[in-house]
Amino acid sequence: MPTFQAAALQEIATRIFEGAGSSPEEARIVSEHLVTANLMGHDSHGVIRIPQYLASVKNGTCVPNAPLEVVQETPATAVLNANWGYGQVAARRAMELAVAKAATQAVSAVGIHHCNHIGRLGAYPPLATAREMIAMVMVNGHGKGHLVAPYGGAEGRLVTNPIAVGIPTAQGEPLLLDVATSVVAEGKVRVKRNRGEPVPEGWLVDANGLPTTDPMALYSSPRGAILPLGGLIAGHKGFGLALVVEVLSGALSRAGCAHPEATRNGNGVFMLVLNIAAFTPVATFKQEVAQLAAYVKSARLMQGFSEILLPGEPEARTRERRAAEGIPVDDETWRQIVAAAKEFGVQVA
Ligand code: NAD
Repeated sequence: MPTFQAAALQEIATRIFEGAGSSPEEARIVSEHLVTANLMGHDSHGVIRIPQYLASVKNGTCVPNAPLEVVQETPATAVLNANWGYGQVAARRAMELAVAKAATQAVSAVGIHHCNHIGRLGAYPPLATAREMIAMVMVNGHGKGHLVAPYGGAEGRLVTNPIAVGIPTAQGEPLLLDVATSVVAEGKVRVKRNRGEPVPEGWLVDANGLPTTDPMALYSSPRGAILPLGGLIAGHKGFGLALVVEVLSGALSRAGCAHPEATRNGNGVFMLVLNIAAFTPVATFKQEVAQLAAYVKSARLMQGFSEILLPGEPEARTRERRAAEGIPVDDETWRQIVAAAKEFGVQVA
């Protein structure tokens, strides 16, 4: 299994995206996003996506250097058409726009449609937390890709409909919740498939609605499904959350909600930004959050736990470790990256 320093992996990824037609800036934004996901331990949203993105460029479903158009706007809101460009570029610009609007309007919301996969949602709220704002980002599958079963269903109707929320703290690292509303993100099933490993019990059901640990259940026909967050015990909660995400990201953004005849995969995106100073002094807010963090961390521990972590802490620690030790890329993923790059005439190994 090859291991890369982040800068070296990013240089390779940037070269690949440039070779596939992206401007140097676009190639940098997309590759930085993917390598940061690896650095933070979310390999499912890291360079494993390069072959998928290049295949989309090849078949015309991802358009390098696509313009981001404003189709409707008020001082506090906007709906953007990403013209099927790279999702990472559209989402970054959309968050910058939402932050600029919240700076003058206190609260802002932005939707994006015709947008490809935006990757790790947790990448975007820090653009707001750095400006003392709270940000929420959520996405649907642009109406297509029905991988997640509704609670009680034996087949997929939704995608993994994730939500990320970033909250500024006094320590500098934001509180960063970044979760799919399914038991697991699809990319993590893909990582298991690439490694030839079984998935844990409770992630998947097969095409007959029976529990399975075989990741191929999600990639064969007829297809199984991922369970909603809460699984067989409390899946109604994940399912309910997923429906809210579906409506905000699909209907408000004009991307469309899950639909049997939806033709295009991608992310319908919804972002909400709250300017803390419009509600309470930032220092008072941060004191309150620090008090909350200390209080929850002070709970006696359950057996098997050594510490209570806040959302965002595992990623910050993995980032520190991988920045020092490097990023491991499994052999199958590396083989696919090399092969995909070669198709665009880029030699990486
Ligand atoms: P996950 O189950 O790994 O959970 C991650 C979240 O839980 C983070 O906020 C993390 O800090 C927190 N966390 C993890 N362990 C913790 C612990 N012990 N104590 C406290 N908090 C802890 O995430 P996931 O649902 O598998 O999603 C993985 C990634 O996939 C996310 O980055 C998400 O944005 C991304 N995703 C993207 C799409 C898309 O279409 N673009 C779809 C689904 C998921």
